[in-house]
Amino acid sequence: MTTEYAVQNAVAVLTLNNPPVNGMGLATRVALTNALALAQADAGVNAIVITGAGTAFSGGADIKEFGSPKALQEPNLLSVILAVEACSKPVIAAIHSVCMGGGLELALGCHYRLVAPGCKVALPEVKLGLLPGAGGTQRLPRALGVEPALNMIVSGELVNSELLFSLPGQKLFNKMAVSADTLLAEALSFAVEVATVRPLPLVRNLPCKHPLGDAYFGFARNMVGGMAKNYPAPLKCVAAVEAATKNKFNDGMRFERDTFINLMWTPESRALRHIFMAERAASKVPDVPADTAQRAIKSVAIIGAGTMGGGIAMNFLNAGLPVKLLEMKPEALERGVATIRKNYEAQVKKGKLKQDKYEQRMALLSTTLSYDDLRDADLVIEAVFEEMAVKEAVFKSLDAVMKPGAILASNTSTLDINQIAAFTQRPQDVLGLHFFSPANVMKLLEVVRGAQTGKDVLATVMALAKKIKKTAVVSGVCDGFIGNRMIEQYGRQGGFLLDEGCTPAQVDKAVEKFGFAMGPFRMGDLAGNDIGWAIRKRRYVEKPGMKYSKTADLLCEKGRFGQKTGAGWYDYVPGKRDAIPNAEVNQMIEAHRAALGITPRKISDEEIVQRLVFSLINEAAHILQEGIASRASDIDMVYLMGYGFPIYRGGPMNYANEVGLFNVVQAMHRFAQNPLDDAQFWQPAPLLASLAAEGKNFS
Ligand code: NAD
Repeated sequence: MTTEYAVQNAVAVLTLNNPPVNGMGLATRVALTNALALAQADAGVNAIVITGAGTAFSGGADIKEFGSPKALQEPNLLSVILAVEACSKPVIAAIHSVCMGGGLELALGCHYRLVAPGCKVALPEVKLGLLPGAGGTQRLPRALGVEPALNMIVSGELVNSELLFSLPGQKLFNKMAVSADTLLAEALSFAVEVATVRPLPLVRNLPCKHPLGDAYFGFARNMVGGMAKNYPAPLKCVAAVEAATKNKFNDGMRFERDTFINLMWTPESRALRHIFMAERAASKVPDVPADTAQRAIKSVAIIGAGTMGGGIAMNFLNAGLPVKLLEMKPEALERGVATIRKNYEAQVKKGKLKQDKYEQRMALLSTTLSYDDLRDADLVIEAVFEEMAVKEAVFKSLDAVMKPGAILASNTSTLDINQIAAFTQRPQDVLGLHFFSPANVMKLLEVVRGAQTGKDVLATVMALAKKIKKTAVVSGVCDGFIGNRMIEQYGRQGGFLLDEGCTPAQVDKAVEKFGFAMGPFRMGDLAGNDIGWAIRKRRYVEKPGMKYSKTADLLCEKGRFGQKTGAGWYDYVPGKRDAIPNAEVNQMIEAHRAALGITPRKISDEEIVQRLVFSLINEAAHILQEGIASRASDIDMVYLMGYGFPIYRGGPMNYANEVGLFNVVQAMHRFAQNPLDDAQFWQPAPLLASLAAEGKNFS
């Protein structure tokens, strides 16, 4: 039963009960409509209270129905709200905890609204590339005032009920309850008070004007347009609220409906909805049931206080977990701790962190030079040099001292987790936790599952990832895991583009115009070109037939490793991150081209983007087929959270679906014909080829 029905003191109480957040799915809408009809027909009922069971009034639309015909099936939310408005008995919303999206739209259809303090209120549809489609854009400005309503609709952000209740002239809430606990009792007495008051007030009848009229909306369009850039929804939110101020209510509703449906069909909204689902899916590991017992993680140890160790430590300190750092020398510990301090102090200076919070966090940090001091840690993460022999020594020491049941993790970017696990007598406790640099900032965490990693270990780290606010994606063991294995092919293709006629700046600009945070060459300069160099040197031995452009090696031979050396593909001024094209680098590329006898050609931005993005997609298809990633959407999360792939394109796999896999494969066949490219490189992965042939996509 998704809506409960009870009568107290001649007041019918309709309690939405669809855990976890009383989503307004079809079953709930049907049950609510039936309960309303029951109350309406019941001669012993004078008023109706709608509230929510558990920890929400209602979180809004049921996400499981997104994009399915169920979302629109009658009674749809608009019909339910019309039924509420049309009740001849007063309907009072008793709102607590969370009231979002469709939940708030339902409340706005009620005749009265009582709210508990501390309730989070929002119309978050814009975050999915949509606007509120059940009257939110027409009723909220009438109830709250045009400006605060527009701010809420355009930002989608949560606002506290106290703040909304304090707004001058607001008619959103008739009353603020003393507490969430007394809300229902207060709503029942309120219902008795208003039971005979007529006419019943309707938000739709309230006036809706902004004193500055067109001037205000002109300003709002400029502001919102400037920030929304690649997203159509925010400007449509402005248009819908403007329509509320200019049209009769029903005309405004029609405008909202048409706009909502148009937005639903935009690739941007599809991408954002895909990400919403992908993020939730990624946290679930297919063969690890939700009720898998977890290990308690109350303390963390980190080996190595360098670039990564320090950043990783901050994640746990921020979450209130004590961290012990181990290094080989006191100086290294001092350096590591000083960097952590410096990072926190910068946050304090910017006003992002309070002084007392900073002190609390630092108080959770301790250091040691001895493994004996780590034995009681529940989780230890190794972040030492990227050499198997060093990892071996560390894991053997850990195996000797750590208490049974401790989780042993490596932050390695490239090394074999199974081999590392085999250095211990407890491979079931070992896995990779691949953080991205800077580890205290980047959202992505690749959880590398070894052949023997325990399911409870996986369940534990997936939950822990949430606690430290990371998006965790599980990867199987392979060279580079999901993200770096794909980026290697993207980097190779970038090199071929230079050989053929592009400059680094031209490639970066094209990719950045497509929406990437950074093009491949700026990214190389940021990460350090020496890292790719070391990998290529390995590849030249392992895979002697594999084709590479030599340009990146020539660059490294000049010591141009990137930002850290002040020079890479670009020049850098100390203290600044602006990439300044360097004539010498361009000459180096030209000379290399000439030596190969290549006449440069002008390559279009479209071709640059296709060649780079399709390189990612093809390698991703291999990764999916091999089971290294368990879902295409997991790969999207890796690229969105760790590699600056444009959010509004939904990740490489979603983008491939949008382009059409058939078209991707056709383009790859075309690129394979180019004698300066690599025909082998453009062999479609079998999975990609078969899906394309069958007219299917990655989802
Ligand atoms: P780093 O050189 O900055 O730091 C390594 C630290 O480990 C140094 O402080 C060193 O003194 C210490 N160390 C070395 N051997 C040790 C030992 N036996 N016992 C204790 N401490 C020891 O390196 P980093 O960039 O932080 O990389 C660390 C690990 O993280 C590597 O495996 C690397 O592949 C991985 N990683 C790096 C990045 C990155 O962008 N830097 C990103 C993801 C993963």
